[in-house]
Amino acid sequence: MKNQVIAEIFQRMGALLEMKDENVFRIRSYYKAAENIANLAEDIETIRRDKRLSEIPGIGKTLEEKITEFLDTGKIAAYDNLTQEIPESLLQVMAIPSVGPKKAKLFFTKLKVKDIDGLEKAAIQGQLLGLEGIREKTIEKILSGIKVVRQGNARMNLGTATDVAQAIVAQLKKLPQVKQIIPAGSLRRSKETVRDIDILVDSHDPQKVMDAFVHLPQVKTINGHGATKSSILTKDNIQVDLRVVEPKSFGAALLYFTGSTNFNVKLRQIAIRKGMKVNEYGVFAVNGDKEKLLAAKTEKECFAVLDLPFIPPELREDMGERFLFPDNGQARIPKLIELADIKGDLHVHSNYSDGQNTIYEMAEACRAKGYEYVAICDHSYKLRVAGGVSPENLKKKRKEIEYLNKKYKNFRILFGTEVEIDMNGNLDYNEKILGEFDIVIGAVHSGFDQPREKMTARLLKACRNQHVNIIAHPTGVHLGKRAPYDVDLKALCHAAQEANTFLEINSFPIRLDLNSNNVFFAKQEGAHFSINTDSHHTDHLEYMKFGVAMARRGWVEKKQVLNTLSLDELYKKINKR
Ligand SMILES: [Zn+2]
Ligand SMILES: [Zn+2]
Repeated sequence: MKNQVIAEIFQRMGALLEMKDENVFRIRSYYKAAENIANLAEDIETIRRDKRLSEIPGIGKTLEEKITEFLDTGKIAAYDNLTQEIPESLLQVMAIPSVGPKKAKLFFTKLKVKDIDGLEKAAIQGQLLGLEGIREKTIEKILSGIKVVRQGNARMNLGTATDVAQAIVAQLKKLPQVKQIIPAGSLRRSKETVRDIDILVDSHDPQKVMDAFVHLPQVKTINGHGATKSSILTKDNIQVDLRVVEPKSFGAALLYFTGSTNFNVKLRQIAIRKGMKVNEYGVFAVNGDKEKLLAAKTEKECFAVLDLPFIPPELREDMGERFLFPDNGQARIPKLIELADIKGDLHVHSNYSDGQNTIYEMAEACRAKGYEYVAICDHSYKLRVAGGVSPENLKKKRKEIEYLNKKYKNFRILFGTEVEIDMNGNLDYNEKILGEFDIVIGAVHSGFDQPREKMTARLLKACRNQHVNIIAHPTGVHLGKRAPYDVDLKALCHAAQEANTFLEINSFPIRLDLNSNNVFFAKQEGAHFSINTDSHHTDHLEYMKFGVAMARRGWVEKKQVLNTLSLDELYKKINKR
């Protein structure tokens, strides 16, 4: 399928036009087309053959011609012309947080900066100073932005890692030689970003498994093909390692390869104190130079002989070390929240703003997941780029929801909004309108550069507004694209607790905000949470598992999460102020 290639070219054309200060509508039409083509379920060549290109949303005459040109010649002349004017590597420069198209163009024309390395050099050497609108603070931000982008290039988000691993696991599972197969490493711990994927297989016949692995269709290069370990690079340049271990020591190997490194160090220390030894082959009793195997088959057995309860993979980090390994007494492990505890999604979009599905489609998809409710929280008026809902359209939206709700017995659609918090902490709808929603989520989508005091005051004010129930993606981070804004999270937690406002754990894989460190911190500070997907399509509802993973990594229990409540309990909780 050429869908992704064409989408990518349109995306780049949009960016290049943006750098040229072209008409906003023209720029946006390329971005929109790129998104729609990337989301097509059908092969674009089939669509073209059936003469249905114009039926793709956002594809007018001009774009249709460009698609046809690409399918016929493998090129788009207009794109080639653009890249002759502006080097493509500038697109990476533009992707750096706090740079953007205007500055990228400025650096290119004044300093001949063509790529990230060039920009870094210019920034360090002080060449940027003196250019229009560039202060010392800007340079600091650019340098930290370069770091964010480089990290993003080196690590993939949890969503991508899960997809890649699941596809490989599904194929290998079909082999009769494979007994158990589990992705280990940071993916099993559900870390926000993952560098490479480690898969562990339990089999008596490693060679067959190895051969099948290196011949999978997604393999681009084979970096290693051994008897029990192989390593490949996928076509998307993701490294995947596969290890086959003996069934009798699968648990010990899984424990070892799940990590984290620090967690393993801690386990070894505990073992030594007990006159034992732990490694990837098992837990052993050590007596002089004699060793006796105590446990290896399952992780649970390995923990048990070390006198530890089963520690869920998400907790195997430094974070809760003082609870996992107290100086005296037993490890204290809370009963962590589970995906099955979630009773509804309180932050999804519909086509009233920038969502791709109707309210009805979103509701039906949530019902199919067994939820009791969903809150349709479209963007507010000011966020025009995302089709913010005007006060007039709100009436229509509300009627539509009331109509649908009449048909449902054990399910309810909540009339919600994701309302813009402006630079001063004021909200985009007036108090009267806000009072009409079932649920209000306050969100920051602009002015990310505010200094800490201003940003904190802004969020606290919104948090304390009597109508606001949830603060969306509380730090504004975009993994690999935008660093979090500067906010006093402790103050926000305390204000939220006092105002009965919940902090969102946004499950969208490029956000994961609050991240697990912040969740752990916020929980200690007494905050309560709402785990939402921020879905813009029914397919995104699946992301809930990532948000729940962040909560688990942050030691959160069911009772600390708003959307584990039944509808009645939820109403009681949010009207209590
Ligand atoms: Zn948002
Ligand atoms: Zn949203």
